[in-house]
Amino acid sequence: MALAAREKDGVRFFVFEELETLGGIVHAFSTRRGGTSPLPTEDLNLGFSRLDAAENVRENRRRFFRALGQEATLVTLRQLHGDSVALVGRAHLGQKRPVADAAVTGEPGIFLGIETADCLPTLLVDPSRRVVASAHAGWRGTVKEVARKTVEKMKAEFGTAPGNLLAAIGPSIGACCYEVGPEVIEACRRHLPSPELFFSRWKEGKAHLDLVAANCWQLEQAGLRPERILAARRCTACDRENFFSYRRDGPTGRLLAVVGFI
Ligand SMILES: [Zn+2]
Repeated sequence: MALAAREKDGVRFFVFEELETLGGIVHAFSTRRGGTSPLPTEDLNLGFSRLDAAENVRENRRRFFRALGQEATLVTLRQLHGDSVALVGRAHLGQKRPVADAAVTGEPGIFLGIETADCLPTLLVDPSRRVVASAHAGWRGTVKEVARKTVEKMKAEFGTAPGNLLAAIGPSIGACCYEVGPEVIEACRRHLPSPELFFSRWKEGKAHLDLVAANCWQLEQAGLRPERILAARRCTACDRENFFSYRRDGPTGRLLAVVGFI
């Protein structure tokens, strides 16, 4: 498993070489490098919010897709930390964003986008059916098993065999920086089997949660082969040079994970 940095015209992003060499598929995890947003300077903020001018975000998205060598035929979601999985396609371009935390498409030339600033973006690729999916999970999405439900949606809509899937988990807040309180720990205990596997560094009722491990486990439960689950294990909060982090900085810009067949 090799996560590799790529840079084009100052725009930096990460890819998994295993997916890059697959052919016919484009995926990337953005960084904050190479943009035009003052967050504080030249940041590649790819999510619309009150923090940044819409024209900056549009320009940043243009730069990002130019660096990928693709048209920006992007469908993003109105993410609510839930478990809805939207089936999307060309009809969604330029329309209101579907309200969901995961998306599936079988249409080539459509890029699914997940916005994050610590949460975990998961991209799923079914090379034999030429179907892709994307999912957004913080602790709420993890407890609601949005990753497993995304695999279920691919099975239901396209007949995907989970054993054929490749999963790519992008940069997200690591267990190193993700201390959570009793409310989160209790929710995990109620909804995840063996939740203790995903916590460490217990102290005064708090503990550090490993979102990557929990989501890898869920994907395996959904039928994915462990060797086909690629995880970046890059902590957004530790790496200020490359990533936005809500936990580190409070309200800030958004990273974008994208995937699509071309
Ligand atoms: Zn960290």
